[in-house]
Amino acid sequence: MKYDTLIRQALIIDGSNTPGYLADVGVLAGRIEAIGDLATVTAAHEVDARGLVLAPGFVDVHTHDDTVVIRHPQMLPKLSQGVTTVIVGNCGISAAPVSLRGDPPDPMNLLGTRAAFTYPRFADYRAAVEGAQPAVNVAALIGHTALRSNHMDDLQRTATPDEIAAMRGQLQESLEAGALGLSTGLAYASAFHAKTDEVLQLSEELTAFGAVYTTHLRSEFEPVLEAMDEAFLIGRHAKAPVIISHLKCAGAGNWGRSPQLLASLEQAAKTHPVGCDCYPYAASSSTLDLKQVTDAFRITITWSTPHPEVGGRDLQDIAAQWGLSLMDAARRLQPAGAVYYGMDEADVRRILAHPLSMVGSDGLPEDPFPHPRLWGAFPRVLGHFSRDVGLFPLHTAVHKMTGLSAARFGLTERGEIREGYWADLVLFDPLRVRDVADFKEPQRAAQGIERVWVNGVLSYSEGQANGQRSGRFLARSGALGGGFSSL
Ligand SMILES: [Zn+2]
Repeated sequence: MKYDTLIRQALIIDGSNTPGYLADVGVLAGRIEAIGDLATVTAAHEVDARGLVLAPGFVDVHTHDDTVVIRHPQMLPKLSQGVTTVIVGNCGISAAPVSLRGDPPDPMNLLGTRAAFTYPRFADYRAAVEGAQPAVNVAALIGHTALRSNHMDDLQRTATPDEIAAMRGQLQESLEAGALGLSTGLAYASAFHAKTDEVLQLSEELTAFGAVYTTHLRSEFEPVLEAMDEAFLIGRHAKAPVIISHLKCAGAGNWGRSPQLLASLEQAAKTHPVGCDCYPYAASSSTLDLKQVTDAFRITITWSTPHPEVGGRDLQDIAAQWGLSLMDAARRLQPAGAVYYGMDEADVRRILAHPLSMVGSDGLPEDPFPHPRLWGAFPRVLGHFSRDVGLFPLHTAVHKMTGLSAARFGLTERGEIREGYWADLVLFDPLRVRDVADFKEPQRAAQGIERVWVNGVLSYSEGQANGQRSGRFLARSGALGGGFSSL
């Protein structure tokens, strides 16, 4: 028998944004060994894939799975969507390198409680991931807020030269140990007071490594264009590719501005590698931010430390029951998490359809009542937005979650179905694939995901994980560049 696995007669959508073709795929020793007519060949495991699509395993470029990949390595919310690689450390918050002096500052608490942060060096984190053997591959960014919390006694100011030097040292050490780049979450109070110059100086560490800069912008509300300019300035200064996280027009006063945002992105892309990720929903989710409390749109509370019983209820109802204003109720709920129905569907579609955007879930695995993107983001793009709405062809949907993503983050030999590449593969039914998780029942596995292989190992089939966990830690493998084309 020539191959470990032979997938026969699938429609191959290879991740390169070109239409599919019928072929057989042979997998050997974790890699794609052959693509073509393999009718005369046999294998230990053979799969009849007629009527199904075989795509590269999806890359979730925007996750907060930092500690869950270690504590719950089966990773069912992601594996069940066909995701085979997660990028952790987004929005300025990462599990490493972190030495806490107390409870994790907001929003690092999205990654877990104090007990989850046990990695003072990035190398410790990498070793812990390798030891846990998660079911999906893991690559990691270093969070700016994490670095700040290590070296600053007060996060409500910009860092001193000594503090910046200490952060730079830790960032450099982490990049040497395989981190992909630096992320910031400048909108959050724990990083908002960092002046642009603080980030500019830190970003200088990225240059020598060809590492990437990703950012949850300083504002996603009215000053979003200025925040994008700040991101491009930092990227150009560091000669680092820029990825804007979950690009959106947040807040009712900002709706309809996506053409301006995308024009700014396109303009920057003419002279510098830039891109963005987004999740396919018109509602966002994070910690409950008093600055975002408004009666202009619905807000749902997902968790609250002092009032866990209100999870899943609207802030408006809670405030009415308590006889308080929205703001006073929100204060009483802190610390807490929320879903904000603060986007316009037309903006979401425009950004999702843009050639520079990738799909990232931004799922929050710690949340007891999570935004449904945690379980549904990828099938929602394939089923709802590509097949049912017709926003783009299926091969473009796949490209936005595979080939484009791997190229943007420098994940070599992944993200496409090509001979010699790692056999991260998902087999799905193009007619049935759909997200089932919604805001009422957010923890439900998608339909139509038939089989998922990670590094050549079948890990999910017939709606269930089979217990195989063959993910790897993916270290940055060299400078980005070639794969990072602009428009
Ligand atoms: Zn974010």
